[in-house]
Amino acid sequence: MVFGIGRGGGRGGGRGAGGGRGRMGGNRPGSGPGGYCVCPNCGRRVSHQIGTPCYNISCPDCGAKMGKE
Ligand SMILES: [Zn+2]
Repeated sequence: MVFGIGRGGGRGGGRGAGGGRGRMGGNRPGSGPGGYCVCPNCGRRVSHQIGTPCYNISCPDCGAKMGKE
């Protein structure tokens, strides 16, 4: 047996195993990633819903478009 320190040819660099963007958690409303949307008009904050941009949400109080906090 040769204990050679081979400069072993790597077996091809792979772009393998790749990075899926893991599915992180479900989309449960409330606490969790996403934060809040805030109304620039009256300051009302609502929890941000995953998949719905803040600017697509209207303020429940005054109807203005929300913005990301
Ligand atoms: Zn408002």
